[in-house]
Amino acid sequence: MRLDPQRTLLALGCRVAAARGLADGILGHLSLRVGEDQLLIRCRSDTDTGLAFTRPSDIRLIGLDGTASAAGELDGYRVPNELPIHVETMLADPRRRAVAHLHPPAVVAADLAGIEFRPIYGAYDIPGAVLARGGVPVFERAVLIRSSQLGRDMVAAMGSAPVVICRGHGITSAAGSVQQAVLHAISLDSLARMSLQVMAAGGALREIAETDWNELPDLGSDFNIEAAWRHEVARLGTQLS
Ligand SMILES: [Zn+2]
Repeated sequence: MRLDPQRTLLALGCRVAAARGLADGILGHLSLRVGEDQLLIRCRSDTDTGLAFTRPSDIRLIGLDGTASAAGELDGYRVPNELPIHVETMLADPRRRAVAHLHPPAVVAADLAGIEFRPIYGAYDIPGAVLARGGVPVFERAVLIRSSQLGRDMVAAMGSAPVVICRGHGITSAAGSVQQAVLHAISLDSLARMSLQVMAAGGALREIAETDWNELPDLGSDFNIEAAWRHEVARLGTQLS
C-alpha cells in the first residue's frame, strides 16, 4: 500500500514538531492509523538524521503488533521502542487516529517545576486556553514506555484528554488528524513557555476570569487547524525530498 500523501503528511508533522523545538535530536515519533489493524509510523534507519529531517520514506506501514504490514516495509527500518504509546492510545479510542509522542523541554521543565497547566491566557491562543481549561493530566512515571502495560498505564492517566504529560519524559498528543495532534502539542508548549516566563519574572499564574470565556469563541477548524497548519508548513521553508 503506497499511502504517499499520508506518509508525506507525517513527515511534515515530524519536521514541524522539530522546528517548533518539541523534539530536539533523534527522539520522538508520529503515527497515523490507516486501518483496523494498520498504522503508519516514523521509523528509524541507519541513515536517520533526526526528526527535523524526516523523509516520507521514514514513515513505514506496520501492524498493531509492530510487524511489517506489507512486504519490504521494515527492510532497513526499525519501529520505535515506544510503539506501545501509539498502539495503546489508538486502541483506547478509535477517534484517536493520529498520535504524536514528543519530548518538548519547556513542557517537561514546567511540569518538573510543579506548574499545573491552567488557562492563564485567553485570546493569546484560544485553542491552547481551551486545552488548559480541560486540564492536562500527568503520567507520573519517567520510564521508557516500551511495553503494552506501560502504554495502557499512560493511556489511563491520559483519560479523555487530548494530551498527557509524561513526567521527566515528554508528552503524548492524540487527535483525529496529524495536524491537530501536532498543533495541540505546539499550544501546550506555548503555554509551558509562557508559564515559565511568568514565574521567572516573579509573577504568579492566575487563571483568566470565568466570564471571559463568553468572549473566547471557537474560531473554527478553517482558522484553528487549516490556517495554522499552512503557517507551520510554510515556516519550515523547506521542500520534502
Ligand atoms: Zn519518549
